[in-house]
Amino acid sequence: MNLVEPGDRVLILINGVFGVRMREVASRLGANVEAIEFTWGTPVVPEVVEKRLKQETYRIVAVVHAETSTGVRNPVAEIGSLLKGSDTLYLVDTVTSLGGIEVRMDDWGIDALYSGTQKCLSCPPGLAPLSFSDKAMARLKGRRTKVPNWYLDLSLIASYWGKDRVYHHTAPVNMIYGLYQALLIILEEGLEKVFARHRQNHLLLVRGFEEVGLKMLVEEPYRLPMLNTVLCPGEVNELSLRRCLRSDYRIEIGGGLGPLAGKIWRVGLMGHTARKESVERLLSALRKLMG
Ligand SMILES: *Cc1c(COP(=O)(O)O)cnc(C)c1O
Repeated sequence: MNLVEPGDRVLILINGVFGVRMREVASRLGANVEAIEFTWGTPVVPEVVEKRLKQETYRIVAVVHAETSTGVRNPVAEIGSLLKGSDTLYLVDTVTSLGGIEVRMDDWGIDALYSGTQKCLSCPPGLAPLSFSDKAMARLKGRRTKVPNWYLDLSLIASYWGKDRVYHHTAPVNMIYGLYQALLIILEEGLEKVFARHRQNHLLLVRGFEEVGLKMLVEEPYRLPMLNTVLCPGEVNELSLRRCLRSDYRIEIGGGLGPLAGKIWRVGLMGHTARKESVERLLSALRKLMG
């Protein structure tokens, strides 16, 4: 909304629902949108992006860090290094990654990132933490046209957030206090420990899946710890198993989306829920239901 103007050339790297959403948002803003699509369940391939960037220039290149629809971690740092020194802005969706795996905005050359409070930050939904680099702020200042949505106009929000405190909207202070506490809890545990807890419980879950004969969708190096995708065995009715997990065991897991509908289960181990008890409870339920 803030960085795209009508006619801007925008490249979206798509390998799941949230990449598709980015394309939809950019095209509604009148951008000249191009996409490179990768098979869902596989990562974006930097070499393919590099080839395109040698032929074309874009105002923005955008990608999702943790694709929640498929369980894939995209190579955000590698893509960022392709854009180094260019005028192109690098936009990254970190909604599911923030608080569960490393997100290094400056080191990876990211100009704008957005996240959410309700995934690995374990906070009520409603806020979208975001960060802009100096380069992104300069792009915002240099717009030819006004930001098309008054409420989301960061140039106005920035003077409210900054020292000037120019009234823009009524801040949802209850949610900000909630976020403050959630961040405090993460920092008290320690970021490295939080990441390790996500990783360990992911590995525990993968091992348990393999023991009951289930196969992971995503190849090992690209798996997300906080969103585990597993192939549904052909002989099981995936929807009724999920319903039964929910009604009888009070466990909710997700189904597949788009081309993966009916083919996978998506198991979240995000923030507070990334713990051994959750993993063991799900595995013991699965053993009963599939045994
Ligand atoms: C959940 C999610 C979103 C959307 O967040 P909402 O708050 O539901 O709009 C966007 N991107 C990714 C990668 C997500 O996982």
